Amino acid sequence: MTSDPKDRAGAVLTIDLDAIAANWRLIQARLAPGGGAVAVVKADGYGLGAVPVAQRLKEAGCRRFMVATIDEGLALRSRMPEQPIMILSGPFPGTGEDFLRFGLIPVLNGPEQADIWAALARRHERPLPSVLHVDTGMSRLGFSADEARRLAGDKDMTAALAPLMVMSHLATADQPDHPMNAAQRDAFWTVKALFPGVEGSLAASSGIFLGQEFHSDWVRPGAALYGVQPLPGPVNPMAQVVRLQGRIIQVRDVDDGMCVGYGATHRVTGRRRLATVGAGYADGLFRSLSNRGHAILGDVPVPLVGRVSMDLAIFDVTDAPAGLARAGNFIDLIGPGHSLDDLAREAGTIGYEVLTALGRRYHRLYLGTAP
Ligand SMILES: *Cc1c(COP(=O)(O)O)cnc(C)c1O
Repeated sequence: MTSDPKDRAGAVLTIDLDAIAANWRLIQARLAPGGGAVAVVKADGYGLGAVPVAQRLKEAGCRRFMVATIDEGLALRSRMPEQPIMILSGPFPGTGEDFLRFGLIPVLNGPEQADIWAALARRHERPLPSVLHVDTGMSRLGFSADEARRLAGDKDMTAALAPLMVMSHLATADQPDHPMNAAQRDAFWTVKALFPGVEGSLAASSGIFLGQEFHSDWVRPGAALYGVQPLPGPVNPMAQVVRLQGRIIQVRDVDDGMCVGYGATHRVTGRRRLATVGAGYADGLFRSLSNRGHAILGDVPVPLVGRVSMDLAIFDVTDAPAGLARAGNFIDLIGPGHSLDDLAREAGTIGYEVLTALGRRYHRLYLGTAP
């Protein structure tokens, strides 16, 4: 018998599924009557486990899911036989039958993908449901405005593609004052009108908080469900979903002038107490946190000193309550007092990247309904 996995992991990641459900309800409350939400659970549920996350969202009332790839769709499908699952990257040549076999719905990102889907519909002699993605200014994926107009004029084609939604995606929704928001909103409503009777979808997490004129029929929240703050400001309305606790492997007292970590990039002044913690860049604790990050020990912010190494990071815990700076105790890398977004800011990135980089070596605990 080996030891309890929790006792041997360098860090413990706790995922609060009930907080995800609370965030789902908070988003529902912002929608107009009749409005719905498609939960985006791509990238393994933003690193938190697509299956447990989707199951909890389903219990909370979610009826449609979106992922990026066919394989992500299959991972969900085996556990959720009924729910519509939409695939953002759409069909590639040769993959059409996969969608049909597993009941996946493609997002069609342009004429080439529409052709693949229409050919399949002809072969099966029936309309095949899809989502039409129109680019309204992001220049990433989607039909151009001209291409959308041409498609709308081709009644046989649109009948074959049986669009469930016309969707677009906002480039600057996390900057409420950016003029592109209104421009994309207006372009979206114009293109949506080309497809009478087809429902619309524009807003992801940030766009939901820009107001109902950005919502149309279906919003597509991802990050906000997982606790990322949707708009800048003093208060994050979303409940925190993740807590990441690093285990203190060793505590050492070092003398004035000693160097810390690879490259000797930090030199202590005065006698300091250091705690070496069992998480590093291989666990998604970005190297850019070197000499910039913080953690919390007993309500006290403690700075990350020296470079983050592969499996370890070192914190100066001199100012933390002495009784807590002990080998075996845990330090909050993400938790109350140091949010996901705080850590992201210190690393020079966004909460999305922190979540999707969360390591595979953490011991994972789910709170709320068991997965
Ligand atoms: C990822 C994604 C979403 C979800 O975005 P969040 O900002 O995480 O809410 C919605 N729509 C599209 C097209 C996406 O790629």
